[in-house]
Amino acid sequence: MSIQIRKEIMAIKPYSPGKPIEEVQKEYGLSKVIKLASNENPLGASEKAKAAIKEHLSKLSIYPDGNCTELKAVLANKLKITSEQLILGNGSDEVLKLIGEAYLTPEDQVILADPTFSEYQYVARLMGATEVLVPLKDHKHDLREMLNRINSNTKIIFICNPNNPTGTIVDEDEFIEFLTKVPEHILVVIDEAYYEYVQAENYPQTIPLLERFNNIIITRTFSKVHGLAALRIGYGIANPQIINNLNRVKEPFNVNSLAQVGANASLQDEEHLVNSIATNEQGKAYLYKELEKLNLDYIPTEANFLMINMGRDTKYLFEEMLKKGIIVRAGNVFNMPNYIRLTVGTMEENQSFITALKEVLAGESRD
Ligand SMILES: *Cc1c(COP(=O)(O)O)cnc(C)c1O
Repeated sequence: MSIQIRKEIMAIKPYSPGKPIEEVQKEYGLSKVIKLASNENPLGASEKAKAAIKEHLSKLSIYPDGNCTELKAVLANKLKITSEQLILGNGSDEVLKLIGEAYLTPEDQVILADPTFSEYQYVARLMGATEVLVPLKDHKHDLREMLNRINSNTKIIFICNPNNPTGTIVDEDEFIEFLTKVPEHILVVIDEAYYEYVQAENYPQTIPLLERFNNIIITRTFSKVHGLAALRIGYGIANPQIINNLNRVKEPFNVNSLAQVGANASLQDEEHLVNSIATNEQGKAYLYKELEKLNLDYIPTEANFLMINMGRDTKYLFEEMLKKGIIVRAGNVFNMPNYIRLTVGTMEENQSFITALKEVLAGESRD
C-alpha cells in the first residue's frame, strides 16, 4: 500500500512558471533570449542593492534577523505605519501562504476573481478550503458579484490590484464601498504587487484604510519594480493583531539576510525606482501604438505587463516567438487562450518583440 497523502493536495497542480532563459537557449540553439514572461524589471536590480549584498557576503555564516528589524523600521517610516503592522515574507507569495495557514480551515470558503493570480487558489487548496471563483467583468474584478457570493462560510476575499493577468484596477470609490459592505469577520487581502507602476488617479491608497477597517491586509513585493525577484522578499501590512497571528505560523528565519539588506538598499534608491517606472510608461506607449498599427486589441494596463488579444489560440504564437528567442506567456494558463501576456521590457526588447511579432504574423519565419 502506498503512503497516504492529505487528499486536499490532490487538487493542487504544481505551478507552471515562465520558461527559463537557459532552457530556451539550449532547446533552440539561441545565443540571445529575451524573457518577457514573468513581469520582472527589465532594468534589473538597483546598483545600491547589489553593493549592499556584496558587502554582506562576509556575514553568510550568521543567521538572518528573523524579525527583519531594520528593514521593518525603514519600511514603517516610509509608509507612515509602525513596525508592528508589518510582516516580511520569502516573497509576498509566502505572506499569502501564511494568511491561509493562519486563517483557513476545510469548512471555509474563499472568494477570488477568475482569472487572477494563481497563488490564492493554491493557498485555498493547500488548506482544504473551498474556492468561489467570480469571473472578471470587462476584464475587471466584479466586486458586486463578489459581495453577492459571501455566505456564512466565507473567510477570505482576495483582490489583486492591479489584477494579474489583466492589468486592470479596482478604483478607490468602489473599493471603499465594497469594504463597508464586507462583514468584519471576513479578511480582505489586497495584493498590490504592482503598486508602484500604477498611474491611474483613482487607484485606492489602501494604507490609510487600515485605520477604518480592521479586516484588511495589503501585500507588496520587492520582486517587481525593485527587480529583486531572485531574492524572494515581500511584505504584508495589516493591524498588529493580524500580523501577530501570521507571526505564529511563520518560520523563524523565513527571509534571508541578502534579501533583507538588498531590499533595504533598494528602498534608498529613488532614482532606480523612477527610471523603472519611466521605462515602463515609455514601453507601454510604444507597445500600444505598435499594436494599434497592427490592429491588435489589448487590455490597457496599470502594471508592467500587457494582455494582447491575437484573435486566435496563442499556443502557436508562443512557440514561434520562442524560436525567435522571445519568451512570452500564452494565455491558456489564464483561461484566456486567445491572449498573450507580455511583460513590458526595455525599449530595445519591446522593439525586438514587435519585430518578431510582425514576422510571425506575416508567416515569414527565418528558420
Ligand atoms: C509576482 C506577483 C506576486 C509575487 O511575488 P513574490 O515574488 O512572491 O513577492 C504576488 N502577487 C501578484 C499578483 C504577482 O503578480
